[in-house]
Amino acid sequence: SPDSVSSRLSANPAYYTDSIWSDTKSSAVKKKLQVWCQLSNGEWVLGKLLSSSGGESLISLLEDKVLHVSTEDLLPANPEILDGVDDLMQLSYLNEPSVLYNLQYRYSQDMIYTKAGPILVAINPFKDVHLYGNEYIEGYRCKSLDSPHVYAIADTAIREMMRDEVNQSIIISGESGAGKTETAKITMQYLAALGGGSGIEHEILQTNPILEAFGNAKTARNDNSSRFGKLIEIHFNVAGKISGAKIQTFLLEKSRVVQCADGERSYHIFYQLCSGAPIALKEKLNLKAAREYNYLQQSDCFSVSGTNDAERFHLLLEALDVVHISKEDQDNVFAMLASVLWLGNVNFVIIDNEDHVDVMQDEALSTVASLIGCGLEELKLALCIRRMKVGTDDIVQKLTLSQAIDSRDALAKSLYASLFDWLVERINKSLEVGKCRTGRSISILDIYGFEFFDKNSFEQFCINYANERLQQHFNRHLFKLEQEEYIQDGIDWTRVDFEDNQACLNLFEKKPLGLLSLLDEESTFPNGTDLTFADKLKEHLNSNSCFRAERGKAFGVNHYAGEVLYDASGFLEKNRDLLHMDSILLLASSTCQLPQIFASKMLSQPDKPGCHPHRSSGADSQRLSVAMKFKGQLFQLMKRLESTTPHFIRCIKPNNMQLPGAYEQTLVVQQLRCCGVLEVVRISRSGFPTRLSHQKFARRYGFLLRQSVASQTPLSVSIAILHQFNILPEMYQVGYTKLFFRTGQIGVLEDTRNRV
Ligand code: ATP
Ligand code: MG
Repeated sequence: SPDSVSSRLSANPAYYTDSIWSDTKSSAVKKKLQVWCQLSNGEWVLGKLLSSSGGESLISLLEDKVLHVSTEDLLPANPEILDGVDDLMQLSYLNEPSVLYNLQYRYSQDMIYTKAGPILVAINPFKDVHLYGNEYIEGYRCKSLDSPHVYAIADTAIREMMRDEVNQSIIISGESGAGKTETAKITMQYLAALGGGSGIEHEILQTNPILEAFGNAKTARNDNSSRFGKLIEIHFNVAGKISGAKIQTFLLEKSRVVQCADGERSYHIFYQLCSGAPIALKEKLNLKAAREYNYLQQSDCFSVSGTNDAERFHLLLEALDVVHISKEDQDNVFAMLASVLWLGNVNFVIIDNEDHVDVMQDEALSTVASLIGCGLEELKLALCIRRMKVGTDDIVQKLTLSQAIDSRDALAKSLYASLFDWLVERINKSLEVGKCRTGRSISILDIYGFEFFDKNSFEQFCINYANERLQQHFNRHLFKLEQEEYIQDGIDWTRVDFEDNQACLNLFEKKPLGLLSLLDEESTFPNGTDLTFADKLKEHLNSNSCFRAERGKAFGVNHYAGEVLYDASGFLEKNRDLLHMDSILLLASSTCQLPQIFASKMLSQPDKPGCHPHRSSGADSQRLSVAMKFKGQLFQLMKRLESTTPHFIRCIKPNNMQLPGAYEQTLVVQQLRCCGVLEVVRISRSGFPTRLSHQKFARRYGFLLRQSVASQTPLSVSIAILHQFNILPEMYQVGYTKLFFRTGQIGVLEDTRNRV
């Protein structure tokens, strides 16, 4: 019976958190409560509760439609006065549909920014929204504007840096196309406006078109997708003016240089160079149209709608000038790019019935040799034979066609990645903080969010590992904040349990039996394959609750955002990422500056621990594996972030079409889950998420009092209201300045208030 249900509910406060029955059922029906009900396609619709019995409810929807649903599938909706609040925490009911609806309500009015407690949620508008520029910057600087905005976050960061003398970080995440890079640029714009003056801010802003040209590409999901992670640390002097900056990049997607999917492009710079280079440069580099190059031609996509590559090239040249890359160096960079393109056109001929090859002597080969500055013969040999030491003997092995193609592509990828690193280094030199550095800085992190596709490979493995680390950082920070607020207001907060993701991190990091260690170990075995790697995982990790063994090369990891199934195919090769020693020596023999620098970098990299003797004999380069290098970078990053006050921005992609206006609930909810917004909501819901000052509470509900209160202080008025409405003691706490309520409590008062 309804009564026994309601008494059971009132005995257990946990039931209150999301139940619509914060009153008895019959009165809820009388009040025609607004509710959310979930349709079979997963979508939530708003309706009015008409009647309810035997676990079934009748709901009236818009347009006079009625719906019979299971009462269990209903969630309470917020009163209309809360429509479009600019902080999700102000919602009385913090359930998923309410969060989704609030974001959508705002989004439809071009209010793309919303707070979720300490986080800023930014929904990609896919169109120009008029929220930026000097007027807005000025508005946020002088505080005449206060709605949620990236500018507001940047402003807080500057102020807290100056006030507390603590470095700050702005951590931007979200999936591909969600708007991270744009958001990072908007942040930089604000910092440059407030901290500018010396001129260095222009240099800092000009690093964006450079890094985008070399590190971004058109993908299926984003026409300007960053294929690397980036941290830019902007330094300030005592007066709060920008004094310099430093950029660090993570995991550039090298494979794109030699291979990309249909309809996608390689890095923008290649197309920009091919269409924008002046005639003299084209002649010097023997440059052809993009279509003439195998690496670019394979995906059959040469342009990006709305962008003019030639124009971009000219902007790039200007930007390179601004960051003091000399014309001579610029020409060297372009020669390297052209050599990569021409390498892709190098062909092989099979010379025996064992598939061994020779290099075709043609325009491609000779152009590569002249661009790299090496001898034609040396280049040929590097591409089709492998010199090895076995014991004390030198052995020369001919390569098969597929081996030769691999070694050619490895050289191209390596040249490109080295060029990218070199460029970043040069930019950093130009932005270097002067002697008067104070150590105060604001770091902006623009890094790929959690990814799960139909097929998940080594890249997703690394990216999701990084996100697991960032998520932990995020959780810990959030809990600290939450706790601080309770303690500050003097209320008793028995710690709410929260799920830490340490177990998943252990699965990755444990030595010697974690995913990363096992991967590395298998990568050093000459006979190791993706399958033996997957088998080892199953052998050693089967009992780990975050790990799931699957058939063949597949394995599952239980991430904080959900389970991801990985396919180990290609893991070992991608992790080894070997460039053949012959190729490195080829670059070292070059008469040009850049290849020499690249080679010496490669040769000076630290030895891979536990490297198999076969490799340490000089046959291959000995380098840290990709996963280990990434882990090192990540630890360094976390250490740096831990010494800062973090600010979190979560970017959300409202649809997969890159179109303005369209808001797909299921897509959004998935992202809210992955980037921790729902986690924040959950955390607060398990505490006392609704907070009102004594004054505000007394003012809003005081008139409902039936008896006047002796003392008219806001606190005593508030307490009288609480008593009159029989709000159960476990449903609220009275702090020094604020009242703290469990979810849904204010809804009851609001309803009464509206009826009066
Ligand atoms: P990736 O992970 O692929 O690099 P991303 O999260 O960095 O993706 P962006 O490149 O920043 O995504 O954004 C994708 C596109 O969305 C932009 O090129 C731009 O067209 C649009 N966009 C993003 N943010 C905004 C904004 N605030 N205003 C207008 N358009 C935006
Ligand atoms: Mg990006």
